[in-house]
Amino acid sequence: MTPGRPVPPPLAKPLPDLSADAADTEGATGTADVTGTPGPRLAAAYGATASDSGLVPLTVARRSPKEDDVEIAIEFCGLCHSDVHATRGEWGSQNYPLVPGHEIVGRVSRVGSAVDDFTLGELVGVGCLVDSCRECDSCLDGLEQYCENGMTGTYGAKDRRNGDAITQGGYATSVVVDRRYVLHVPESLDPAAAAPLLCAGVTTYSPLRHFDVEEGDVVGVVGLGGLGHMAVKLAKAMGAEVKVFTTSESKFAAARELGADEVILSRDEAAMDAANRSIDVIIDTVAAPHDLNPYFRTLRVDGALFQLGLPSEKMPPVNPGALIRRRIAYAGSLIGGIAETQQMLDFCAEHGVTSDVEVVRADQLNDAYDRMVAGDVKYRFVLDTSTLGTPSERADA
Ligand code: NAP
Ligand code: ZN
Ligand code: ZN
Repeated sequence: MTPGRPVPPPLAKPLPDLSADAADTEGATGTADVTGTPGPRLAAAYGATASDSGLVPLTVARRSPKEDDVEIAIEFCGLCHSDVHATRGEWGSQNYPLVPGHEIVGRVSRVGSAVDDFTLGELVGVGCLVDSCRECDSCLDGLEQYCENGMTGTYGAKDRRNGDAITQGGYATSVVVDRRYVLHVPESLDPAAAAPLLCAGVTTYSPLRHFDVEEGDVVGVVGLGGLGHMAVKLAKAMGAEVKVFTTSESKFAAARELGADEVILSRDEAAMDAANRSIDVIIDTVAAPHDLNPYFRTLRVDGALFQLGLPSEKMPPVNPGALIRRRIAYAGSLIGGIAETQQMLDFCAEHGVTSDVEVVRADQLNDAYDRMVAGDVKYRFVLDTSTLGTPSERADA
């Protein structure tokens, strides 16, 4: 728990009128159910009520599954650095109360009448998006994350097909999501260790695939946190040689254990010089502003640097000469589409790749955030949602 950030008691708001939802015949009829009760549900959750509130117990009202919906009893949810940025208001104003969490793994508890691709009790996942327009070129190309009309994020977004309700994420005991945005999680994967694949996994898999990484390529990974350690594992599984750049000398041995062929202390100028022109593609996962120019020097001609981290403050300027002289591409990449996320999960099952996780209880969430910001995590915190308690007869979010 963060000193000076006491957990206030749960907000005592009245239960909202859910009668319209309860009377929703799409949901009330034809819904297959392992629990035997129709209608909307309350979920116990943890979330922020303001940028400085820390995470506190909340209750979320989940809709009754509509015909295309899958209701999931959440078992584990990973803690992404984006959750910290969002709940603390580092990316600008947010819709509070805000329940974060977009690395969700659980089991199907109810399905709508039109759902025939998910079965009750099946292990499933939800990542960073729960809807998109389904009509634009990006959506039709399976690139829903780049939806031209805006993807619907798993939390803090207006839910366009559900009355513009604000979506609430996976630090909760359940969630209801349209089947098109639910993933099949192979049963061979450990559920807690698979949860971070839904964001950290696909966010690093997507640019590696976009660059067609294969045996013989050299991949650089900057920052060894949640995203970074997945980038190392995935690039190795694709057959690449991997060089890790870290600010933490203490992570050298661990980086090697993850499969890194070389580990470079990024503030060691001589070590950076020695890596000159040795790398084909860099996956930069650093969550804070940093100078990219020394990394461009480590790239070969036609190399690329994908920036995945989204710091809240400005980055030092990129030197155009560094790009021009080697035809280097400086790119960004946002999570992955639904089909690609499924492809990544299947790839991970085939290659035995999961995240290295530290499972935490709900009352450890604030401490886990502080430890993540301090870089004290190997390599992903994952919330055990059985520690969230039970929802009370009120709904906060
Ligand atoms: P994380 O677990 O906290 O890892 C970030 C790593 O960056 C740290 O472990 C650290 O590695 C390195 N780092 C170096 N200097 C730092 C500093 N001053 N402050 C913080 N970290 C520093 O974070 P994550 O969950 O992997 O997320 C990384 C970034 O990616 C965040 O900005 C997040 O919002 C963003 N993100 C983007 C996408 C996308 O779609 N593009 C998806 C998810 C997350 P070393 O100790 O090895 O230096
Ligand atoms: Zn994330
Ligand atoms: Zn779209």
